[in-house]
Amino acid sequence: MLDRPVYLDNHATTRTDPRVVEAMLPFFTTHYGNAASVGHRFGWEAAEALEHARAQVAALLNAEPRAILFTSGATEANNLALKGVIPFLKSKGNHLITAATEHRAVLDPLKRLSREGYELTIVPTGADGLVDPESIAAAFSARTVLVSIMAANNEVGTINPVVEIGRLCRSRGIVFHTDATQAVGKIPLDSAELGADLISLSAHKFHGPKGIGALYVRREGLPVRLSPLFDGGGQERGLRSGTVPIPLAVGFGEAAEIAGRERGEESQRIARLRNRLHDRLAKRLDGLKLNGHPTKRLPGNLHLSFTGVDGQALLMALKNVAVSAGAACGSAEGGPSHVLTALGLDEFMARASLRFGLGRFTTEEEVDFAANEVAEVVLRLRERSAAAFSRKRNVLGIDAAL
Ligand code: PMP
Repeated sequence: MLDRPVYLDNHATTRTDPRVVEAMLPFFTTHYGNAASVGHRFGWEAAEALEHARAQVAALLNAEPRAILFTSGATEANNLALKGVIPFLKSKGNHLITAATEHRAVLDPLKRLSREGYELTIVPTGADGLVDPESIAAAFSARTVLVSIMAANNEVGTINPVVEIGRLCRSRGIVFHTDATQAVGKIPLDSAELGADLISLSAHKFHGPKGIGALYVRREGLPVRLSPLFDGGGQERGLRSGTVPIPLAVGFGEAAEIAGRERGEESQRIARLRNRLHDRLAKRLDGLKLNGHPTKRLPGNLHLSFTGVDGQALLMALKNVAVSAGAACGSAEGGPSHVLTALGLDEFMARASLRFGLGRFTTEEEVDFAANEVAEVVLRLRERSAAAFSRKRNVLGIDAAL
């Protein structure tokens, strides 16, 4: 028996790497200055640490440090990107494009803009969750000013062809934003190759601290202009007022540096463990359905539907494995996940799903333990529902005889 459940929910958040925590600690207790204090050493130390962190984050995207604006996370970065760029595009048009599988932190700001009079096209994806560049091209109109397509999906892990989509947008002078929250640190992401105008990221998805993220704003060529979400002290070039949390920025920078250094080997190891988990489950259970794209997927992602099992019941019965049900993202509303619905899963299949997210600290032993526990619970639940079904039939049989 393990002393804590096996953590396989690394799409929701990740354990902060102890090396990251180590780097952050002095900035709570020793170098605790405000980066905007220009008159003393505490402020200078903070400003220096902030710029070092900015350079580390920029390096992960192969960007120049000036292109990085610190925010509180990807939700804020997405809102700043989408709502911030719109005022400068008004004269060109009012048509916005996104995809059905985007995170709520993109869909909801865009829906708000559509309530305010912008025209919004939400393109469908394939059953594998892929956004087809052709469907984006087909949605273009003369009034299209902004496209937002995520780099990788947070539920099914599908990796989108964002380079192609970016190229299409650039050739038409359309602003391209990508929410790369799940992709950064997991797959190669080069801002120069990507050619996106705006990229959102978040530290806590790749073993950095919670509460900090960034928006990359392209500097080359015609600069992308943004309007801030709120006003105040004018930090982050006036685009994100508020004292920058230096310990978090330092942790973000360290996490970015570690990811840049270790990503290659790490993602191979994680993908191997993910495949092991899948194989072990497939050996024990029939009726497994893999959701998302079979190969164009994040290395740590495994999203499965277990036919004939209720996902909530499964989740409740899994005492020693921490995962999410497919519906986790929409759990506040209680409905099935909009991502799985967009992939064409009916309510039963969507509800019979689990999202496994493996990460840096996942071990082979944990994977084997989790595979065993999930298989046993699924078999037990299936047996139970088969027994209930035959009981019902018996009752109906007796009823019919009467
Ligand atoms: N976008 C995606 C794709 C995500 O997975 C998440 C986190 N669930 C967010 C945005 C929001 O990130 P944050 O928690 O940093 O606000």
